[in-house]
Amino acid sequence: MSTGQKKNHVRVLVVSAHAADFVWRCSGTIANYTSRGDEVKVLCVTHGERGESGPIWKLKEGIKVEEVKEIRRKESEEAARILGANIVFLDWGDHPLVIKGEHYDILVKHLREFRPQMVITHHYCDLMNPDHIEVYNATMRAINLASVSGVQRETVPIPPVQIFLTEPHDPELVGFNPDTYIDITEVWPKKLEAMQAMKNSQGWLIEDFKRRGKHRALLSHRYSADQSVEYAESFKRVIPYVGSFF
Ligand SMILES: [Zn+2]
Repeated sequence: MSTGQKKNHVRVLVVSAHAADFVWRCSGTIANYTSRGDEVKVLCVTHGERGESGPIWKLKEGIKVEEVKEIRRKESEEAARILGANIVFLDWGDHPLVIKGEHYDILVKHLREFRPQMVITHHYCDLMNPDHIEVYNATMRAINLASVSGVQRETVPIPPVQIFLTEPHDPELVGFNPDTYIDITEVWPKKLEAMQAMKNSQGWLIEDFKRRGKHRALLSHRYSADQSVEYAESFKRVIPYVGSFF
């Protein structure tokens, strides 16, 4: 069976629990890939309509959940357009997000069709947001399912993928020890623009993630000879590096 994929073309799959998580936590890295012609697909598992849309619920008396979701969808689509990424909304409902049964068939289908070399998702511990942990667990299980021969026999299992976990809100509290820093200085204007697309629903996070970007850049100066990094994103690598030399 042909997979229909071009060689030497990097495909990055981002699995984002809520509508804007991919923007805050890894949009600079997304923009790095898309700006050199690689392909990024964002799976938005939910719109974050219940738990991450506080100001939208206050827009007018009696606003309906479908209206909240529509606003969030438009924001996320705009952010994805700015970043040059494709975006798909699974709309499985948040707070609480429960991923089960048939949801895995859909995740496996996306993995088998897109065939990413890299997957970015949430960190396995996020005490303040169990939806994020749910998405980490589901992503890991789906990658496992997509890689075995006995599942969805009509499509081709995926080879091993690199997996990177994004920085949670409270890194020290949950033992987030990043081992990968990505320089996003050149694409910072794009990240800023993508964050601005979220200003009506989660605008207070823009300043937060500006500071985080600067903080991670400062730390990256300690680990690298490159002192020119102004903004960075940090990640935890799941799959170990394999090679003949370090
Ligand atoms: Zn979230």
